Amino acid sequence: MNKRYAFLFALLTASLPSVAQTIIVNRDPQIADLVSQLSADSLRSHINGLVSFGTRHTLSTTSDPKKGIGAARQWILGKFNQYARQSGGRLTATIDKWTLSADGRRIDKPADMGNVMATLKGTDPADTRVFIVQGHMDSRVTNVMNRDADAPGANDDGSGTAAVIELCRVMSKSQFPATIIFVALTGEEQGLLGAEHLSERAVTEKWNLEAVLNNDIMGSNNSNETNIIDNTRLRVFSEGLPGNLLKDTTNRISQIRQFGNENDGKARSLARYLKEVGERYVDNLEVVMVYRNDRYLRGGDHTPYVQRGFAAVRLTEMNENYNHQHQDLRTENSTEYGDYPKFMDFDYLRKNTAVNLATLANLAKAPTVPQKVTVDVRNLTNSTVLYWQAPQVGKVKGYYVLMRETYWPFWQKKFFTTKLGMTLPYSKDNYYFAVQAVSEDGNESLPVLPVPNLR
Ligand SMILES: [Zn+2]
Repeated sequence: MNKRYAFLFALLTASLPSVAQTIIVNRDPQIADLVSQLSADSLRSHINGLVSFGTRHTLSTTSDPKKGIGAARQWILGKFNQYARQSGGRLTATIDKWTLSADGRRIDKPADMGNVMATLKGTDPADTRVFIVQGHMDSRVTNVMNRDADAPGANDDGSGTAAVIELCRVMSKSQFPATIIFVALTGEEQGLLGAEHLSERAVTEKWNLEAVLNNDIMGSNNSNETNIIDNTRLRVFSEGLPGNLLKDTTNRISQIRQFGNENDGKARSLARYLKEVGERYVDNLEVVMVYRNDRYLRGGDHTPYVQRGFAAVRLTEMNENYNHQHQDLRTENSTEYGDYPKFMDFDYLRKNTAVNLATLANLAKAPTVPQKVTVDVRNLTNSTVLYWQAPQVGKVKGYYVLMRETYWPFWQKKFFTTKLGMTLPYSKDNYYFAVQAVSEDGNESLPVLPVPNLR
């Protein structure tokens, strides 16, 4: 079934009374065209390039021109600079370098660190929004301190890094009102160090960072132990509560409890958006929302952003094969261990990369979010009255009012209006609502949940 109809079908079959109108959301032809330019072969060649450096361990050599993380980051920078030439001057690439001293944990000597970044500057000077898509370039074997052994890291996280490179290749030819930053991070395996550095920069430099898509382990289609093979599902991990809630000194916790908003934190809200938009553009792929920040025993580079209060999610393949992660290269009892490209599914990686592209492009083309979204709760009524103000930046065709049952995982209905308010014949007590601003091309902003107007 075509995704567009699948979406309509999902809306029609949702367990709601079918009173109000249903909106068919069409694909934006520009985004569909960009999605079609992503190539499995191109992704494969990016990964072969990354693997050719032997190891990309964070503590490996940075002076050898052919081996180690220093050579790898120069190679990624070279790719970004190549794409910069086709961008009409909008894309600039750099290695953000710093030195870390030994920390008594996974850094045992002063380390020469570097995140490789390419920034596709937005075309609208008034639009300060920044979107980050990232993967980690560093790799490891069984012993996390082993900086010498070959560590191909084809899938962990060559897959995420190759996705970032491929997204930059395809998207840098286009222009978007908002800014997109493509990042190959360092130091993930040594303690999320590259993401700590970049998310802290976003805070101190006051970036208007609206979303972070972290891609880590997303190009293998099968599991060890349970032997499942499936390249039609992608997981997106998200936390339901605001990530910096424990540091919050206002009464945010009591408001979340009072209004039942524990499933609508920034990351969860972004995951829901990514599911809807990703499935709109990518055929034969279901985005599975996982209601937790990450897997057991594992961490990821979205977490330093989440902890600082940004909307950040993790995209990871549906089934993981632990024989091909963090393993010394060897064969034991006729099982081959190691993170090699030959164990990957490049068309699956292409689809997972496409989910990123659709989400980033739709966000970067959308207006900024509607302002002062309010639900009127001053009277005991059986309807819902919402009002809001126009977004600060971007041309607006209108607004979607989103609606879902309180127990439902994603938005079930969309009501379109060109006005700055809407009255709906559904009780505010029984549903969640949110409002999105919509561009001329139909691109939606992130949704904003209404604040109750109590007086
Ligand atoms: Zn990883």
